Amino acid sequence: MLFSDITGQEDIKKKLIQSVRENRIPHAQLFLGPEGSGTLALALAYSQYINCKNRTEHDSCGICPSCIKYSKLTHPDLHFIFPTATNKKIKKDPDSELFYPEWRDYLITTGSYADLSGWYETVELENKQGLINVRDAQKLINKLNMKPYEDGYKVAIIWMPEKFNAQSANTLLKIIEEPPEKTLFILVAEDDSQILTTILSRTAIIKCHKLNTDEIRQSLIRQYQCTEDAARNAAILSEGNYNLACKYLKNEDNEKFLFQTFQKWMRYCFKEAISLLIDFITVDIKPLGREKQKEFLEYGLKVIHNTLLFNNNLGDCVMLPDEEKNFVKNFSPFINMNNAQPIAALMEKSIEQIERNANASIVFLDDSIKIIQLLKIK
Ligand SMILES: [Zn+2]
Repeated sequence: MLFSDITGQEDIKKKLIQSVRENRIPHAQLFLGPEGSGTLALALAYSQYINCKNRTEHDSCGICPSCIKYSKLTHPDLHFIFPTATNKKIKKDPDSELFYPEWRDYLITTGSYADLSGWYETVELENKQGLINVRDAQKLINKLNMKPYEDGYKVAIIWMPEKFNAQSANTLLKIIEEPPEKTLFILVAEDDSQILTTILSRTAIIKCHKLNTDEIRQSLIRQYQCTEDAARNAAILSEGNYNLACKYLKNEDNEKFLFQTFQKWMRYCFKEAISLLIDFITVDIKPLGREKQKEFLEYGLKVIHNTLLFNNNLGDCVMLPDEEKNFVKNFSPFINMNNAQPIAALMEKSIEQIERNANASIVFLDDSIKIIQLLKIK
């Protein structure tokens, strides 16, 4: 992770870089900031910078052996602990070491913009709450007490110290206060009121702020090559949380995909173009897979519902982007009290059939033929 990969937080980056260049690195620090502010990414960029063999005034080199290991999260002197719980794979005694492969993938796919719900979803904790337990604390102490593998700093990143229990926190107190030589603790948290004061009092606090809309907008365009409009909308909705902004952006793409695909389907049904429909099902629908096919039909149900709102002069209640709203408006004269219910019932039944592993090509072709007839009903 390079500092230049991180959205905003320029003042913090400067401060961190300065502390390294002046050789004033506190041995225990708390990176504190709201979800989506990039605290974990900053902690990683900082650790990488400290260990880089060829750092510049502004960033790590990105290509020395230490940087390469940092970028892959495989550096032998980089250690993490984070909240875990049992799941389908790890049925007892969960700890960070057992979850490390998933954690590493999660950080790489999110650019280290981690959040608790995203992490819990990734490892399918279902409704369980994660915890940093005493096993994590003991294993970390053992690792830090061993000789370093390389000649730089050993770094222990503790993500979400809010999830310590008293036992795990107490186990780590002494080593946080007096770490072995060239060992650095970075705690990454969102809410200092949930951290034990005994831990808090032993750390130097680096406060990260919420990002502003402009920083998020620019970063989204750079990362996703999306349009200016899409980036601005997602940035505004996110209220300074980069994780949320990414989710909004991805959802917007998905919504657009569902809309355009549904529009195509209905157009071919109107034309009664059976051969186009067969191609459409083979090329656009079949490869989607079961979950997405269900989502597509659920989207269809939403369109039918919205056309009825238009037909009852409630078009103002339809909250959709302009292009999509126009489609629903133009489609609404073809949906009425006589065919809305049968079309909706057809889609609901298809959702059930797809759930039960029915052949999607047959289900969608059957639906298309029935919809052609239903759209003719006045
Ligand atoms: Zn380097």
